[in-house]
Parts: sequence; structure tokens; C-alpha cells
Amino acid sequence: MLYDVIVVGGGPAGMTAALYASRAGKSVLLVEAEACGGQILESQKIENYPALPDADGYTFAENLKGQITALGVAIENGRVGKVEDENGTFCAHVGEKRFFGRTVILATGLKHRKLGVAGEAELIGRGVSFCATCDGMFFRRREVAVIGGGNTAVQDALMLSAFCSKVYLIHRRMDLRAERHLAERLREHENIEFIGDTVVREMRGDGRLEELVLQRVGTENKYTLAVAGAFEAIGQLPQNEAFASLAELDGEGYFLADEQCRTSHPGVFAAGDGRRKAVRQLTTAVSDGTLAALSAVAYLDALN
Ligand code: NAP
Repeated sequence: MLYDVIVVGGGPAGMTAALYASRAGKSVLLVEAEACGGQILESQKIENYPALPDADGYTFAENLKGQITALGVAIENGRVGKVEDENGTFCAHVGEKRFFGRTVILATGLKHRKLGVAGEAELIGRGVSFCATCDGMFFRRREVAVIGGGNTAVQDALMLSAFCSKVYLIHRRMDLRAERHLAERLREHENIEFIGDTVVREMRGDGRLEELVLQRVGTENKYTLAVAGAFEAIGQLPQNEAFASLAELDGEGYFLADEQCRTSHPGVFAAGDGRRKAVRQLTTAVSDGTLAALSAVAYLDALN
């Protein structure tokens, strides 16, 4: 089958693109490697999506998936290894399978940045996690650390403080990057301790995380902190290398696209956090999905 639109990535941007393209009467295939929803699945409470003050990420993703499924969007579970332009028809490789589309919307999102310190690789999934919402409950009544100073780190620390006995928030600077209203909430929780100007040098444990080796910035002194869990919340990185020959990337690996989410490659559009832009929020992801889909629809209609 030749689809009008192949959407790569089933986060809010990709699913919104599928919604708009499908409602415009186009046949749509959406390919997602993991669970539809992407990063939003990790948000216990969204809080800043207009008119949905109590939304949680899981419900948001499930509702959106239900909406596109009802419209007839085909969903393929798998990782797109590459997309080739075969004389204006795009071929998406998903394992051994091949899918063909007249346009492609790249909504690949971001993946978690890692600290890259000794011991980390061995202890991921054994006390080291990138998702407090997903894994936090495993550390009930235990002492844990959150690493980072942005909104995610602060939200994670706040959430974990409800059931962990102690939460250390370890940040490489004294100033938090997180929004002030979030940062101020930290003070309301006696079991959260902020450790600023400090970096993690090593993660240690015999089969499971037992301690972090910390170093205060500007000093040579290292010391250990015993924790059962460490949640890394140090930002995200694009994962677009596989599509570098299809759509232009900037120096940091983000897709370059215009205000209408059009890349310089005709028929290829980019949407969501993987696109170079100033603000990466749920609202801007769904905005991108809308724009990319409507640009793809205009492109398809111009072909006919
Ligand atoms: P972020 O804002 O990029 O913050 C990453 C944090 O990790 C920064 O504090 C950074 O330190 C630190 N960091 C980066 N690399 C590090 C390293 N190698 N070692 C130690 N620390 C490192 O990431 P985020 O918190 O995941 O947020 C991503 C985006 O989502 C942001 O735009 C954020 O506003 C948004 N978001 C919004 C909400 C909400 O409810 N509104 C919730 C979550 C996320 P420096 O500060 O020193 O650079």
C-alpha cells in the first residue's frame, strides 16, 4: 500500500500530525518504536496544557491514540531504521518490513541525556533511572538522588518526596534552571535536600546502585553519598542521525525546518522536540504536529 503520509514517531507531535492528516482525508501510517505517547507518558501531571488542568500524561496519550485509531490511522510498532527517497516515493525501513509513503513527517522526539560517568552503564535499570514517574515507586521509603536543575529534575524531586524517605537534588550549579514556582515548592518538603555546585563523578554498587561519588565544583574533594536510586534528569538529546540524508540537521542534531515545519527536502516535514526551535513544550509539540500535517496535505494536494 502507498500511504499519503508516514509519520515517524508517536509522541504528541506525531499523533497530532496523524490526527490532522487523517481528518483531511489522507491515508496515514504512524510508526512508533515504543509506546505511543513518548515523553508525555512520564508526566504524572501536565498542569500547563490549556483547559486540561488535571490531565496526566498517560491519559492524554491514550486519548490521543484512541482519537487517531478511531479515524483509521494505521499504527505500526517498530523502529524506523531509515527512510529512502525513491524518486519521490518514500520507503521507510522497519526491521525487515518496508512501508511506502508519498510524504514523511519526522516526529522523532528526544532521548534522555546520560551523565556518562563510570558505573552508570552497568547500573541503568539497577537503581539508575531516567523516569521517576515510571520507576519511583520501586524506591518507597528509600533514599534517592535526582540529578539536574531543570523543571524535570525539580518535578521529579517533588514527586519522589511523597514516598521516598529522603531525596537529594544534585545540581552542578547553585541556581536552578527550573521555573521559580516549581523551585519554591522544594522548600515545603523537609525530606528534600538540595546539593548545589556538585557533580556526580561515579556510580557504585554491587549489582545495584549503592552510592554516588560526588565532587563539589572547583574543589578536588570527592565524597560518597549512599542512595538506593538515582534519577537522571539532565535534559534530552535529538535522535535524528538515521535521517540525516533525508532532512538537514543543525550542529546539535535537530531537524531544520521552516515555520510550516517543511524541511528543505520536498515531501519531508519535521515536527516536535526533534526540530530546531526555541520552546519545547507539549503545546508546541501539538502545534508542530498540526503544521506539519497541514503542510503535507497542501503538498499532496498540489501534486494531484
Ligand atoms: P533542561 O531544562 O534542559 O534542564 C537540564 C538540567 O540538567 C539543567 O539544570 C542542566 O544544568 C543539567 N545538566 C545538563 N547536562 C548536565 C550534565 N552533563 N551534568 C549535570 N547536569 C547537567 O531539561 P528538562 O528539565 O528535562 O526540561 C526539558 C524541557 O522540558 C524544558 O524546556 C522544560 O521547561 C520542559 N519541561 C517543562 C515542564 C513543565 O511542567 N512546564 C516539565 C518538564 C520539562 P544547567 O542548568 O547548569 O545547564
